[in-house]
This record gives sequence, structure tokens and C-alpha cells, in this order.
Amino acid sequence: MIAWLDGAFLPLAEARVSVLDRGFLFGDGVYEIVPVYSRRAFRLDEHLRRLQHSLDGIRLANPMAPGDWRGLISDLVARQDFDDQSLYIQITRGVPAEGQPLRDHAFPAAARPTVFVYAQPLRTAAPEQKAAGVCAVTATDPRWQHCDIKAISLLANVLMRQQAVDAGCAETVMLRDGFLTEGAASNIFVVAGGLLLAPPPSPHMLTGITYDVVLELAAAHAIPHAVRPVSEAELRAADEIWMTSSTREIMAVVRLDGETVGAGVPGPVARRMDACYQQFKRDVMRA
Ligand code: PMP
Repeated sequence: MIAWLDGAFLPLAEARVSVLDRGFLFGDGVYEIVPVYSRRAFRLDEHLRRLQHSLDGIRLANPMAPGDWRGLISDLVARQDFDDQSLYIQITRGVPAEGQPLRDHAFPAAARPTVFVYAQPLRTAAPEQKAAGVCAVTATDPRWQHCDIKAISLLANVLMRQQAVDAGCAETVMLRDGFLTEGAASNIFVVAGGLLLAPPPSPHMLTGITYDVVLELAAAHAIPHAVRPVSEAELRAADEIWMTSSTREIMAVVRLDGETVGAGVPGPVARRMDACYQQFKRDVMRA
């Protein structure tokens, strides 16, 4: 696996950053994960736009122009010896320049951002898992007011995901003030009475690239849908619950807090959306 760190390509195992990097000390940075199918980055413009949104959110200047990002990414993708990739991009506020305080919460007057990109083989869900669906648990969303920033400081998400794993489940579905926000590392959709419901983008969730694709596909295929707040009662009474992300794609949640969701198998709307999504991927890759 070949990585890019601060201007140079090198084997991932040899990539090193300083312990004084603000990403290490403060979690002061942002990231993106871009799926790459057959060596083509999926929805790259959208990922780069979200990266810019995250950088703006932490007041860090983008170290590269969009064209340079595209060039770097196509170069990095070409250097791997596997076709389907999961591309990780991280930018931190870097190491304070000589003479600056080593550890001050406030931004250093001068620091060069650290840019780190690598690709690993893309692992999507196994067909058997997709056919069976997964279980999830719920929890109160413990996070801050800027969940729309894809920040590397993921401690709350880490604890939430571990809570799911401890319960033998795949995801924790988070609720804030009685309403669905998202999963620890996914967006959550529900289907109620044939209507697909998605919580509206807000500072309380990360608007997934997959989330946007799902809503585009719902519109394109005339699948009844609405973007509006989803209450805890609606979540618990849903016929279908899905988690979506770039790597999980559309994954049905068939048990929530030990209760069966719908018929306890991936529902008809999930299966239809997954078929649309797979077709969309093929069309985009062929274009
Ligand atoms: N919310 C959170 C908190 C996430 O970590 C992710 C996965 N990156 C998502 C939503 C889904 O985003 P995407 O569809 O872009 O992978």
C-alpha cells in the first residue's frame, strides 16, 4: 500500500508524523473516505466539496486546489496493486513552526498542515451479510454541535460504535432530543408505510455522500420519500431501517435493541434501493 505524506509517495508502513502534530495532540484535523471502484474514484467532486466544508468548519485553509487533489488521487490510485480501493484523506493543522508554543489549544501563528492520503483494498459487505441484514442498538447522541464537520476527533463515534460491537451488533443508532440523528459511522434511513424517510441535513449529522445518492435515486425511480425529522417512535415502529455509508452502502438493520424490525429480513424498499445503487455505480463507472 502506497501512501502520500507531505508531498511524497512512500510505502504506508514507512509513513511517520511528528508527535507534535496537532492531529495527534488535539484531534485538530479533518478527513474523507472515498470509495474507488475499478480504479475510479466514486463521487470525487462531492467528496472534495465535503472536505472543503470540513476545512472551512475548522478554519483551516485547503492546502491544495481541487485540480491538484484530483491529480494526486489519480496518481495514488494508479500506484496501488488492487483495483477497488478505500481512499483515506486526512489534513491536520500540522506542527507549530519553530519558536511557536509546542502545545497551545489556540491555532499556532504559523504551521504547515499535514496532508496524508493512503488507499487500502475496499471491503464492502459480504453478500450473505447483506442478504441477512444486521442488528443495531440505540443510544443518546453524546456529540457536539458540529457533526457536519468530518473531524478526526472521533472519540464519541468510537465509543458509540464499540457499544454496538459489545452488544454483538453492527451499529449504534443515535437519538438527540427524541429524534434520529445518524449512526456512529453511517446515516440512517427508515421506511414507514412505504414512505422512505431521511432526517434533514443539520449540524447534528454528517450528510453522507451515500445519503445524497440514495435520495437522488429515490427521486429518479419515483420511490416515495420525504426528508424530515424522524422521531424515536417512528424509528421504533419502522417497517425498515437502513444504515448507509460509502463502504457499507445500503445495509438493512433487521433488529433494533433486540426487537425485530419489519419482517426481520431486509425489506422490499431496501432491496430495490440496493439494486438501483448497484446499477448507478455500474453506470457511473462505465461513463
Ligand atoms: N455519518 C458518519 C458519522 C460517518 O462516519 C459516515 C461515514 N463516513 C457517514 C455518516 C456516511 O457518510 P458517507 O456516505 O459519505 O460514507
